[in-house]
Amino acid sequence: MTEYNVYVTFLAIIFISMPFELFFLLKKTAPYGRHTKPGWGPTVPNWLGWVWMEAPSVFVMLYFFVIHPQQSVAYIFLVIWEIHYCYRTFIFPFRLRDYYKPMPIIIPFSGFIYNCLNASVNGYSLTVLYTYDASWLHDPRFIIGMIIFVLGYAINQHSDYILLNLRPKHSEDYTIPNRGLFRWISCPNYLGEILEWSGWAIATWSLAGLAFALWTTCTLLPRALSHHRWYKEKFPNYPKNRYAIIYKIM
Ligand code: NDP
Repeated sequence: MTEYNVYVTFLAIIFISMPFELFFLLKKTAPYGRHTKPGWGPTVPNWLGWVWMEAPSVFVMLYFFVIHPQQSVAYIFLVIWEIHYCYRTFIFPFRLRDYYKPMPIIIPFSGFIYNCLNASVNGYSLTVLYTYDASWLHDPRFIIGMIIFVLGYAINQHSDYILLNLRPKHSEDYTIPNRGLFRWISCPNYLGEILEWSGWAIATWSLAGLAFALWTTCTLLPRALSHHRWYKEKFPNYPKNRYAIIYKIM
């Protein structure tokens, strides 16, 4: 099988499984964090689950740039990808106050597979399928996409920072977040993540980028709705004018 055939197969798997992912997550909330329940099989500590599932994104993308060296602005995409994923793989898991909390193995297992597919199609797309020369830096798609990516990154980082500082170390208690965009929506960290990869899709103008943005939306929209429902059930004083993820819409 050629590299191109592998790319087409992986991309097809991602696109075809997307509606099933959305439907499944609207029916059943992914069982980690506040939604952890018994009955999902063996578990691993939270931190190990995060490192395990996110690591392919770091290494598979690097692999493509090593075997297909570039002489172009593709390296900008490599740098922003690695900034996001090195943080998510090697720093974020150790900033969790509850880094030892059990996570069912099904979560890192499925996350690992998805991240292998996703990093492969994006890596192949950036290094083989498309050529981004210096003129791409002036292209409105690159400029607009990068602005959306950076905005999303800032929102995601700031919101995660607020969440991670709500608890003292080793605590598992939940409180209502009231700073930053949490004043208007329950899950600005997810909104930031969706914006990031939507910006990526626009800036790379690729099918692989589009698949990533849509998949992230199919994963995080249902989870934001579940978080929002959970907050309203757990806290009778939860602000009534707060939305799940998009102000005034949902
Ligand atoms: P959550 O918002 O569920 O939780 C983030 C951390 O904050 C957890 O440690 C959580 O604890 C803690 N926390 C959340 N709310 C509260 C609260 N009210 N009081 C106290 N502590 C709280 O995010 P996820 O764990 O689902 O995701 C983490 C990051 O990973 C996000 O930035 C997200 O965007 C990203 N992500 C990206 C995906 C993608 O498809 N690209 C998929 C999934 C996540 P606890 O775990 O105990 O609930």
